[in-house]
Amino acid sequence: MIKRFMSYYKPYKGLFYLDFCCAIFAGFLELGFPIAVNQFVDKLLPGKDWGLITWACIALLAIYALNALLNYVVTYWGHMLGINIETDMRRKLFDHIQKLSFRFFDNNKTGHLMSRLTNDLMEIGEMAHHGPEDLFIAVMTLVGAFTLMMFINWKLALLTFVLVPLMIWLAIFFSKKMTKAFHQLFSDIADFNARVEDNVGGMRVVQSFANEEFEKEQFQVNNLRFRLTKLLSYKIMAANISISYVLKRFVTLFVMVCGTWFVIQQELTIGEFVGFLLLANVFIGPIEKINQVIESYPKGFAGFKRYVELLETDPEVADRPNAVVVENLRGNIEFKDVSFGYENESKVLKHINLIIHEGETVAFVGPSGAGKTTLCSLLPRFYDVDAGGITIDGRDIRDMKLNSLRKGIGIVQQDVFLFSGTIRDNIKYGKMDGTDAELMQAAKQAQLESFILSLPDGLDTIVGERGVKLSGGQKQRVAIARMFLKNPPILILDEATSALDTETESAIQQSLAELSHGRTTLVIAHRLATIKNADRIVVVTEDGVSEQGKHEELLEAGGHYSRLHHAQFQMT
Ligand code: ADP
Ligand code: MG
Repeated sequence: MIKRFMSYYKPYKGLFYLDFCCAIFAGFLELGFPIAVNQFVDKLLPGKDWGLITWACIALLAIYALNALLNYVVTYWGHMLGINIETDMRRKLFDHIQKLSFRFFDNNKTGHLMSRLTNDLMEIGEMAHHGPEDLFIAVMTLVGAFTLMMFINWKLALLTFVLVPLMIWLAIFFSKKMTKAFHQLFSDIADFNARVEDNVGGMRVVQSFANEEFEKEQFQVNNLRFRLTKLLSYKIMAANISISYVLKRFVTLFVMVCGTWFVIQQELTIGEFVGFLLLANVFIGPIEKINQVIESYPKGFAGFKRYVELLETDPEVADRPNAVVVENLRGNIEFKDVSFGYENESKVLKHINLIIHEGETVAFVGPSGAGKTTLCSLLPRFYDVDAGGITIDGRDIRDMKLNSLRKGIGIVQQDVFLFSGTIRDNIKYGKMDGTDAELMQAAKQAQLESFILSLPDGLDTIVGERGVKLSGGQKQRVAIARMFLKNPPILILDEATSALDTETESAIQQSLAELSHGRTTLVIAHRLATIKNADRIVVVTEDGVSEQGKHEELLEAGGHYSRLHHAQFQMT
């Protein structure tokens, strides 16, 4: 784990060494000060040479100034190192999330992922900077101060050293406690974010059901749990701070008492005594540093563990090593004995066999939950089949590069997802390098042109989060325009107009008909009136494909389809 962590430093070796060297230098200056005082008291003070004393003071001032400069470098460039590493990690994680498959997002909460990208990585960044540097400096100061103390008086130094194991034991003790607390804290924050995400995202539902009280209670459960965990971590922190404070004062007192005795025995000069006392303070200083490290290590490592975990989640659907780029798919689709289930045991689709020809429009009908959407989502490999296979133009889709396969397939769904930018942004999503002229052409084909032209901001109109500022029909038209721009040879319309009122629906049907012209089209429709003219109608039930044929044929056959048709016909 540590080795893996260290690998992130590689691109910033220069920065790392610069920071490290400055920190070491500053550490040395820190050690030099007590020695200077020692010399001052023992040599300069008795001589009463004011000229020399003035020079000594100027020299000290210069050293302080240098130290201040070094500290600036360490603080600024050191944090730069941390933020660079954090940025790299965040980018890597985001890139990885883009690769993960639908099933991953079925099972993971947005809020959790958010907190990994923000909170977790912030802590890791702090650790990346402070971690190795502070530990090293702490050890260096500890060893350096001790060596100098040995030089001044080894007996007194050894006496003081007796207290070191106690310090180390305390450090380890608190570090362990903190790790545990922070692990809990992070998962609490993640839960917290997930809850807020759910609540705000579903606010329209919350308020329309008037369930605010319920939501408040649910939120407070998380809120209080977070409070408890945070309190625990503060408790540990407080205990740590107080105990190490007492320990530090104890060391000072200890040195004062023993030192006085040594001075009386004339084994120590006054200057050495003062120098030693100052060194002893430098010696215990690292405890404070170690305290900080104790705080940043567990936080950082708890975050890093979760980071690695997520990074090691392999995408379920990925390119095979020998996958080829496909261009200009024609759209001859074949499902060969396809079986699939979201959970292992229960299969949604069992032994599906189906051939769809280039340019054909095939409509899928059947009871809700029969697996129509599932069947269609296998085509762009949102999920991979459990058994059997799907081919396009005779090639297994698993042998195609995922990107190129998906470029060839367009999907328009019932609940259109629009990004919270402008209309232009959203249409352009179909073809990132599309020009405004192409954009307007697509809008025209989707019969969106007059609407756009009527807006004061035109294409630059903000659509709001998920497109809340547009009507259902307008959103659907944006989605259709986006698809005209993408221009895929294969098209899937999954209940694309079910959410619309009848009038809007029939208006949009026209755009859809134009969109599916010349493409292999799979239509899932709820209202049978909209698919009468399909080349073929496939009835999907829990047992798979139960019948298929043209509208009239199926009506005549008197099976499932004709029953459905009669039911709907009587209703409307
Ligand atoms: P249809 O589109 O015919 O109404 P679906 O293909 O959406 O049906 O769903 C088929 C079955 O698969 C349903 O029982 C549904 O509960 C289940 N299902 C759909 N999506 C998922 C999913 N992401 N994870 C687990 N089960 C799912
Ligand atoms: Mg469906």
